[in-house]
Amino acid sequence: MSELAQDGDRQSSLLAMQMEALYKGAPQSVMSIFGAAIVVLTYWSTKLQFSLILWFAITCVIAFVHIGTTAMRPENGLIRWQRLSWSPYRWSPVAWSRFVRLVHFCSGTCWGVGGGWLLLNGDHHQTLVVCCIAMGGVTVTIPAVIYRPAFNLFQVPVFIFFAVALAVSDVEYGKILAFASATLSVALAIMSHSMGEQMTLAFKLLQENRHLTDALAARGSVLEEENRELTAQTMTDPLTGLANRRRLMEFLRRTSGRCAVLIVDVDHFKSYNDNHGHGDGDICLVLVADALRRSVQPSVDLVARLGGEEFVVVLTDLSHQRALDVAELIRANIQALAASHPLKIRRLVTASIGLAYRDDDRQKSNTDLMTEADGALYTAKNTGRNRVATLSGNQSVAAGRA
Ligand code: GH3
Ligand code: MG
Ligand code: MG
Repeated sequence: MSELAQDGDRQSSLLAMQMEALYKGAPQSVMSIFGAAIVVLTYWSTKLQFSLILWFAITCVIAFVHIGTTAMRPENGLIRWQRLSWSPYRWSPVAWSRFVRLVHFCSGTCWGVGGGWLLLNGDHHQTLVVCCIAMGGVTVTIPAVIYRPAFNLFQVPVFIFFAVALAVSDVEYGKILAFASATLSVALAIMSHSMGEQMTLAFKLLQENRHLTDALAARGSVLEEENRELTAQTMTDPLTGLANRRRLMEFLRRTSGRCAVLIVDVDHFKSYNDNHGHGDGDICLVLVADALRRSVQPSVDLVARLGGEEFVVVLTDLSHQRALDVAELIRANIQALAASHPLKIRRLVTASIGLAYRDDDRQKSNTDLMTEADGALYTAKNTGRNRVATLSGNQSVAAGRA
């Protein structure tokens, strides 16, 4: 992602955080309705009746719009109108920030113009009530410094209109109060600036923190994946994709109970290589590996390449006879490669298999099993190749000729 796009993303997520925090601490619209109701009661007279009701209605509409849309925010989720395309539920942070500014400006202007007009009409006591409510309104709006434009768009119109009204009214100390009102507006703008900066900084730090946590988690899962791959690589024979010697040893360590170890050695492979070249020899080894894989149950057995043209098959939880049958199947499947792949294996490829078996007695260690299978393989080689042999001799299976 380009730096510009990243910057844009951060700005947008910063705005989203500001909007979220702003709406979580935004009771001012409810207070606005209360305040307006008190003002209406204070100023109620036949002369002002219509204007007061109109002003109160406008104040309430602005407040209800604010309260309603707040309830529709996904974070608040009190009203779920997300199905409607125009629903504020779907607004972006930028759209929300525009809306927030508009609402605060409308509310500030409504209170500023309405309050100013009432100051011109009121007596001493009524003036005091309006000023107190305006001060209260600005106080409950202080959390809006989280998003400074909203705060200023509310407080500046209130105090500026009040200042103008007080300056031209005949209220006692009107000029002084007008000056105080204007000064207060400027003071609040300055104060909100430094407070807003601090809060923006806090949000930025929070955002950076989230960003770093996400990056760390992503890096962690990449490393985990790489680690898994590396572990798999250290356990795999690169040519055939079978388990390698390390994986074989680990499998044997975890194998207990009855099992069979078969050492499978391709016959006269040196001469195969000499006749067909090392490349074809490699292809042949891959085909032999496939034949081995096809002959066992991958979920419980293991096929490994020990090195060169030597393979080891570990068969678990089976009878001696079944082990001999699988060994014979392996031998036959390797011999059958000649038929399946006539172009690649022009000379009949066969293998000799040495088999060692352990019953439930567990008297043989895994090393014993390997040594015994090796001895049996030696027997198979010495008695004509292309056969399965065990050390007990009489179970040796003579096989078809290569
Ligand atoms: P035997 O029937 O007694 O097992 O005879 P052999 O020729 O198979 O046995 P020998 O141990 O003399 O030869 C093994 C050959 O396997 C020697 C070597 O060229 C070949 N070989 C070992 N590793 C590889 C390999 O990765 N690729 C290929 N193509 N050949 C290999
Ligand atoms: Mg060999
Ligand atoms: Mg060999």
